[in-house]
Amino acid sequence: MDDTDHHDPYGFGDDAELGAPLAPPIHRAAYPCVHCGYELAGMTVGGACPECGQTIGVVATTQTSALAAWALGLGITSLAGLFMCGFLALAGPLAMFLAKRAARDAKLGLAPPSSLGMAKGGWWCGLIATVLFVGMIAIYVVLIVFRRFW
Ligand SMILES: [Zn+2]
Repeated sequence: MDDTDHHDPYGFGDDAELGAPLAPPIHRAAYPCVHCGYELAGMTVGGACPECGQTIGVVATTQTSALAAWALGLGITSLAGLFMCGFLALAGPLAMFLAKRAARDAKLGLAPPSSLGMAKGGWWCGLIATVLFVGMIAIYVVLIVFRRFW
């Protein structure tokens, strides 16, 4: 991990592979102001506390993101599925989708940084499984077509 970028807390600058730039998130769960304790649920991260004007930060959580765990699990499942039951590979696109969301959460500070690694792992597994699965289908179709003409 090389870039602990304090100038770009929302990750707007380096989002090439994991999706488009994103708007700051909204605190959905209960989240008291760090300065005055005012309840900030429903407020936008980066805004100001209506009670004291303190900048609204992100949740400092130590829990592993469940989303990232799902993304990695599904990514591995989709890869394994290629060698067992081909249709398990269909979990690949879903793993990529979840991984994108998990990576966004990690970059925004809504999930711990370790989740970003998991999410990326899930994304790559999902991508490889999807590409190989599509390739296998293509080869299968080509073989069927060839048999017809032989
Ligand atoms: Zn406050």
